[in-house]
Formats: sequence, structure tokens, C-alpha cells
Amino acid sequence: MYKKEKKEVDKKLLAEDRAGGFKCINCGQWVNLADSIGTAHRNHCPFCFCSCHVDRDKSGDRRSDCFGKMKPIGLTFKNEGFDKYGKKRQGELMFIHQCTNCGKISINRIAGDDDEKGIMRLFEESQKIDPKIIGEIEKEGIVVLREKDRQALIKQLPSI
Ligand SMILES: [Zn+2]
Ligand SMILES: [Zn+2]
Repeated sequence: MYKKEKKEVDKKLLAEDRAGGFKCINCGQWVNLADSIGTAHRNHCPFCFCSCHVDRDKSGDRRSDCFGKMKPIGLTFKNEGFDKYGKKRQGELMFIHQCTNCGKISINRIAGDDDEKGIMRLFEESQKIDPKIIGEIEKEGIVVLREKDRQALIKQLPSI
């Protein structure tokens, strides 16, 4: 490859690299999107699970101008409705995030390479959250995982 061409490729890769990741607003780690194989729309840090408040009405719309820090405060199972026997379906495990700037609560998919031990730590911590905040979360239709959900949680974390 000619030197000039290589330079162009390098420039292109650098530009992709710049766009292909983000610096975590909480812990400062660089999150490389190319590392997140099989993880569409990674929007939170795999180390501390924080993200930035950019979505307004739905996940991925990028219409909020808050830009506050979205911190994980607990875990939930996504509401997947009921099966044909009327039994509640076990939904996908999700983070519950709350914005430290405006207080908005949202749920966020867990990515395949998120640290499972960190998820368990978050579960333990979330057992201590203020019942008032739990009430607020439940008003949004989100059920916070409690001690009774431990086995169901572990089932979704293969390396625990
Ligand atoms: Zn982080
Ligand atoms: Zn916010």
C-alpha cells in the first residue's frame, strides 16, 4: 500500500474510532463500541453502567437536552405480558436508570459484556433504596427486583 493511501486509511480509522465510542461521564473510561460484539445500541458504560441522559420519549430518540448522568439504581424484568395460560412471562433483565440531574427514570437493556458481578452488586445495593423511591419507580409501571427475585435473576446471569 502506498504511504499516502495508508495515511488516508489511518485517518478514516481514527475518525471511525472517534465516532465509534464514548467517554463515560461517570468513571471516565473509554467505551469502544467495536468491542461490544453482538450488542446493538450500547449506550451505557460496561464498567459502572452509567449513561448520559440523551433520550426523551423513547430509547434511542436522542431528543433530550438534559445530558445529566443516568445512574443505575436497580434491576427489573421487562414486562413481556402473559403467556397463553395467563402466567406472567419472565421478561428480559434490565437496568433501572435515574438521571441525577432531572430525576427521570428509565429502563435500559443489559449488554452481553456487562460485568455480571457488578450486576449482582447493584442488586444488593438496590435492596437498600428508599421505599419512597421504589414507590416512584413503581408509579412508572416498573417493578424493582427484590430478594424474592434473586433466583430468577441468577438464572439470567450465566457466570454467577
Ligand atoms: Zn463508567
Ligand atoms: Zn435528565
